[in-house]
Amino acid sequence: MNLAIDWRAEARRLTLRNQAFIGGKFVAAASGETFECVSPVDGTVLAKVAACDREDVDRAVKTARAAFDSGVWADQPPKARKRVLVKLAELIQKNANELALLETLDMGKPISNARNGDVRAVAECVRWYGEAIDKIYDEIAPTPKTALALITREPLGVVGAVVPWNFPLLMAAWKFAPALAAGNSVVLKPAEQSPLSALRVAELAVEAGIPAGVFNVVPGFGETAGQALGRHLDVDALTFTGSTEVGKLFLKYSAESNMKIVSLECGGKTPNIVFADSPDLDAAAQGAADGIFYNSGQVCDAASRLLVEEKIHDSFLSKVSALAEKYRPGDPLDEKTQMGAMVDSTQTKRVLDYIAKGRDEGAALVLGGHQVRQESGGYYIEPTIFDRVQNRMTIAREEIFGPVLSTITFKTAEEAVKLANDSKYGLEANLWTNDLTKAHKIARSLRAGTVTVNSRDGGGIEVPFGGYKQSGFGRDKSLHALEKYTQLKTTYINIG
Ligand code: NAP
Ligand code: MG
Repeated sequence: MNLAIDWRAEARRLTLRNQAFIGGKFVAAASGETFECVSPVDGTVLAKVAACDREDVDRAVKTARAAFDSGVWADQPPKARKRVLVKLAELIQKNANELALLETLDMGKPISNARNGDVRAVAECVRWYGEAIDKIYDEIAPTPKTALALITREPLGVVGAVVPWNFPLLMAAWKFAPALAAGNSVVLKPAEQSPLSALRVAELAVEAGIPAGVFNVVPGFGETAGQALGRHLDVDALTFTGSTEVGKLFLKYSAESNMKIVSLECGGKTPNIVFADSPDLDAAAQGAADGIFYNSGQVCDAASRLLVEEKIHDSFLSKVSALAEKYRPGDPLDEKTQMGAMVDSTQTKRVLDYIAKGRDEGAALVLGGHQVRQESGGYYIEPTIFDRVQNRMTIAREEIFGPVLSTITFKTAEEAVKLANDSKYGLEANLWTNDLTKAHKIARSLRAGTVTVNSRDGGGIEVPFGGYKQSGFGRDKSLHALEKYTQLKTTYINIG
């Protein structure tokens, strides 16, 4: 990154896109309504954004359908779609500073994370699916010689995508990149807290050569725009990332409308199991701290439950507490800041309520616990660590989505696995041990979509990501994500 960037000056120069993007153009909501897009960095209003509702969603879906039916995108050779998506990835890289700034201003994450984490990963994701799409072959089934059965993958048509605010553009890219690569049209509803980056990328998509109408963005509220998309009779699939509670609503919307395909990436309560025989306890402590404090803990697979073997409990917890200091909240626009703001006042209050609940239920608060930097006008919570947590306590069961670590002690591997699996969630689990046999055995017993061993890093775009249990179903990332945006056709030919 260019260290000389004055991000505040850059912010003043920004032109914000604040209207819906439908049919390749920015348009106001049909009702003319707008909502305030507030920056949690300092509480200022960044823009008044079009508040889309049913009518706008309907218009976007009709436009997306017309584009799909015309074949202007779906019928382009895979190689041609590849070229366009690779171009889009290049444009995202070229505009990386602007996009990173939009993320930081809109949802409060540190600019260095937005620039070197989010936006880089978005460009990589778009490039990866672009590069992949002309390398995938269909199948011929092993039928009797008298027949030829072709099994081909076809795009679905119109894909609705509803995404959260914690990694606004990255969560959207995990959906729109494979959906577009496969030839679908997309209608994306970003979270109300963070609509800005998606609107800019939709514009870049047209610049890259995605035909108008293929990629549409309808900012607005969940109950209105989100629900309208979920219930629309002409949306073929709805791909969602967000809370388990809202994920269940999309199943209902589908059942009550057209039985559209639903895929859900929902919440988590990741257990991070640290054994005394961990190969490097300092690395494990770093993983534990990064796992819960990165992005202020607003991460679906945040390592929110630290399961630590009793005999190393004291020393390990001291290491994690010392590392937590690096995560003192600071100005998100300062490149040195490691922890920025919470997304908004509601989320801040929610997290503070959970901290109060942890105390009430008898957990020991050993670090943090307070809102800080109130003079900024923004919303910040310090790194918070609870010890002596029981897995039945609320802070160990519910997804807090904040920088709050719950420490639970165990004695045996069996006990650790039992605690880890005792959750309605199953998105991810982390474990640290030097014993290969133990690692494999435990990895097999953990009911989670991803298990990491001796690392917090669960891999890049090349590996699937998604949940077991109430963390959802369907996978983002990797070639498996394409399964969500295509359907199989069997063409059975009699050649007898
Ligand atoms: P959320 O409240 O579930 O919202 C997610 C999206 O759904 C937003 O666009 C939201 O719109 C929309 N929505 C809300 N209520 C709706 C309704 N009644 N009908 C239709 N749509 C509705 O989640 P969030 O607070 O934005 O994000 C945090 C959650 O996302 C956490 O649970 C986290 O674990 C999960 N997450 C999961 C993953 C994963 O890959 N598994 C990744 C990141 C985050 P509004 O913003 O307008 O309300
Ligand atoms: Mg915002």
